[in-house]
Amino acid sequence: VTAVVVNGRAYHPPAAPSVVICADGLDPDYLDDAFARRLTPRMAEMVEGGAYAIASAQVPTFTNPNNLSIVTGAPASVHGLPGNHYLDPDGREVQLTDPAFLRAESIHAGLQAAGVPVLIVTTKDKLRRLLGRGGVPCFSAEFAHQQEFAGQPLIDLVGRPNPGIYDWDSSHYAIELALALIPLAEPQLTYISLTDVVQHAAAPGAEVSDRYLRRLDELVGLLLDQGLKVGVVADHGMRAKTGQDGSPQIAFLDDALEAAGVRGARTILPITDPYVRHHAALGSACWVHMPAADLERGWDAIAELDGVEDVISGDAAAARFSLPRDRIGDLFVLAGRGTVLGTSPGAHDLSELHGPLRSHGGLHERPVPMLISERLTPEAAGLLAAGATNADIHHLLLNGVA
Ligand SMILES: [Zn+2]
Repeated sequence: VTAVVVNGRAYHPPAAPSVVICADGLDPDYLDDAFARRLTPRMAEMVEGGAYAIASAQVPTFTNPNNLSIVTGAPASVHGLPGNHYLDPDGREVQLTDPAFLRAESIHAGLQAAGVPVLIVTTKDKLRRLLGRGGVPCFSAEFAHQQEFAGQPLIDLVGRPNPGIYDWDSSHYAIELALALIPLAEPQLTYISLTDVVQHAAAPGAEVSDRYLRRLDELVGLLLDQGLKVGVVADHGMRAKTGQDGSPQIAFLDDALEAAGVRGARTILPITDPYVRHHAALGSACWVHMPAADLERGWDAIAELDGVEDVISGDAAAARFSLPRDRIGDLFVLAGRGTVLGTSPGAHDLSELHGPLRSHGGLHERPVPMLISERLTPEAAGLLAAGATNADIHHLLLNGVA
């Protein structure tokens, strides 16, 4: 196999077994702090011999769209997922977890079809079917107790039971699972997707955050020790969404629309997913479907809300952020750095949160770290310096190694 074209870009099969980790919610602030305090020596060493840059995520900066951008090498306008959640043409709100929603194949499916063995391990089971589309072997840490490989229970291969999805080390279990499966499945390319439970709960420097990063660093070290070429990127950053007193800062759109006399609008919060204890369905971007006659009034009412940074049309959002126009609303709303967007106070159960609200979704969570263990070609280094996206990580690792 020389190269496989996926979504308009040619990918060379890895010259040596390679792995990409999506460190969910790993804002650059966590790594800057970790490097400054020498908390993550293996990753520091890895980028010293390789590359480290800040890249940008797909907007809205949510998990599903960005994981799909990473594995397809393409924006949401191509792969079809603008959020974790959307309003379907029948007027029902639907979780975007069914692979039938995807409009593009993954790099992994393309390589596998050309005879290159691949493997995917995800922490969150909500991504398993999406990432496994096209017959790619895909396992989840969340349901590892129900899955097996070649007749062997996954938890026996790892050597410990899988933690709960809200435990601090559920992400690490996904890497441990990959470390156990790689010698058996011998993939040339592996993708490991983590979860952001720790980042939603803890700021850089917090005890659990440090514990998370130290263990992540050890596991990245084990992958490097196996001779793997490693890329690490994030799906989005993470910011505190609280005021001076520590309480959540929320702009409630439906209340504002109602006060303005707008009827028949549907606010869609595309962060919505089964993991409500992370964020109570509160993120920093959303869209609103609205009757044309109400558009101007609704637009003004939302734009005047405290903490709303920008309101643009669905057409403008689709163009600016490469989103599938048919799957977003008529207005696209972005919150400021410290604010999240909700519908109305009764719709969000804040008692479920682990701690002070930390979340993502807007422009302030767009910068993500990108780490590559290898020296890059001048072209690849140029792309990274000019501003890569997380969707470029496989291109850089497969095509850009010197
Ligand atoms: Zn995420």
